[in-house]
Amino acid sequence: LLASDGAVRPTIFAEMSALAASTGAINLGQGFPDEDGPAEVLEAARRAIAEGVNQYPPGIGMVVLREAISRHQRRWYGIEPDAATEVLATAGATEALAATLLAYVDAGDEVVAFEPTYDAYGALVARAGGVLRTVPLHWSAEGAGHAWRPDPDELRRAVTDRTRVILVNTPHNPTGAVLDRDVLDLIVELATRHDALIVTDEVYEHLVFDGAHVPIATLPGAWERTISISSGGKTFSTTGWKIGWATGPAALITGVLAVKQYLTFVNGAPFQPAIAAGLDLPDAYFAQAAATLAAKRDLLADGLRSAGFEVSPPQAGYFVIADASPLGFSDADEFCRRLPDLAGVVGVPVLALVHPERRAEYRSLVRFAFCKRHDVLAEASGRLSRLS
Ligand code: PMP
Ligand code: GLN
Repeated sequence: LLASDGAVRPTIFAEMSALAASTGAINLGQGFPDEDGPAEVLEAARRAIAEGVNQYPPGIGMVVLREAISRHQRRWYGIEPDAATEVLATAGATEALAATLLAYVDAGDEVVAFEPTYDAYGALVARAGGVLRTVPLHWSAEGAGHAWRPDPDELRRAVTDRTRVILVNTPHNPTGAVLDRDVLDLIVELATRHDALIVTDEVYEHLVFDGAHVPIATLPGAWERTISISSGGKTFSTTGWKIGWATGPAALITGVLAVKQYLTFVNGAPFQPAIAAGLDLPDAYFAQAAATLAAKRDLLADGLRSAGFEVSPPQAGYFVIADASPLGFSDADEFCRRLPDLAGVVGVPVLALVHPERRAEYRSLVRFAFCKRHDVLAEASGRLSRLS
């Protein structure tokens, strides 16, 4: 986490945002929307501040938010965590991940996660003293169309009695994969056989374009060993508010709360009722948010293809992965550092999210964020066409 001179080593997302800021390039690196989310949600936060919701909320979260999270899970997934004991509000999904891993991973415990791996996972597992074992997602044409999928045998081999947690991320950052039901079933089977916990990061749960998101907690036998994590940041375009949550059986959530009370203690008072208002928005809002983003995905994917990249269109989320090798760039690390000069655009090298030993498969891949205005995506596409 620290560089050899003792300085904080910035995350790849912070580094790439700084590169965009210093060069004036269009920032398609870090994933955050450039437009505000629903007016009702913004207004609810203003109202809460005006009404004096500005002091420490309860550590477990305000009742209004916990009840909205529970209602939301009943409406969309048919499960209803008890708002009093099975729902915990956190400072974004990031704190939920941190508190969960610090609570349940001890020195030497293994955590299995899919690769490419969201950057916080490796850092948090290491802070907890655990060992991250990754299972690669491969771009595969098998099954229902092209998608990023794990090889079931590689997953089987990775999970052993040393595994404390299987850390799932679906929809997946950076590939945009929505894990298939058979993969989720296999995860539950392996976790049960080896008595591991399942921790699932589902922050892109509503931003699905192709396929259906199935929360792993809803599968038979999963609930009692699963901590599910999500956040209002993506669903309501409020990434800076950092309102997230963890849900699961009371005994598991209690352990997460025990750690959370010494991380942030409590968080985000006026934003909690605002995210609650968002979770109660009608179905049409959620459908519209996904449809709007799907159009942006198509715009940027087309632009990247016209510019000469090979593209794997995501099923969900904020990002599209593009292979720069058809343009003659075989090393995405170097390509991304030169991209502001070459084309006035910033992307993230997928290599940054991959174990050094596994670099070959992902070497020339770049992650571009498309959660941006149409004019920004059109301008970026035009600039990228200069590459060929
Ligand atoms: N998990 C994944 C997979 C993410 O993409 C993100 C945000 N980029 C987070 C967690 C963090 O979410 P939050 O901002 O709510 O902490
Ligand atoms: N999750 C966002 C991304 O993947 C960024 C969050 C961060 O910068 N840590 O780009």
